[in-house]
Amino acid sequence: MTDGGSPLGELLATAGQVNNVRRNRADCIRCADDGKRGTVAIYEQAEVARCFRCGWYIYRRQLLRDLGQTIPAETPEQREARRLKKLFEQWRNDRYRGLAGEFCELGRKATIAKSALAYFPMWEMAWDHLAHFYHNEARLSAALDALVFEPGSRWLEEPVTREELSRQWRAHAAA
Ligand SMILES: [Zn+2]
Repeated sequence: MTDGGSPLGELLATAGQVNNVRRNRADCIRCADDGKRGTVAIYEQAEVARCFRCGWYIYRRQLLRDLGQTIPAETPEQREARRLKKLFEQWRNDRYRGLAGEFCELGRKATIAKSALAYFPMWEMAWDHLAHFYHNEARLSAALDALVFEPGSRWLEEPVTREELSRQWRAHAAA
């Protein structure tokens, strides 16, 4: 009898959902009639298995339930931590997209300004665009590098870790 900690491939085989498990591949019982082998990919870390041929998939949680095994319920603290993590990742994505868009727009204007200045070196507005870009380049670059935890950023004095950013985000959200 397997338990909740068994490798996913073992659980799949026990449940009769796949045949011939080998490392992270197995044969699909739903679509292997014509001899096509190894179409099920087993993602141990992600706790999901998926047949890339017929599209069938199953999560470890579901599999354990099918096998009649109980899984420890989430504690309120774990649920809260999961909820916060999801919100943080959402914020990180949105913020990155927003800042990257801003950076791209400033860069685009600066490029146009540069070529315009080659012909009209006295054009105030072009100088403004260029100055605006250089003024914001460091700020935006640092913010973007922090959002992806870039380890070797030349815009940050020291790298920002996920924990640190998450802490700042929570402090900011609570304020
Ligand atoms: Zn299949």
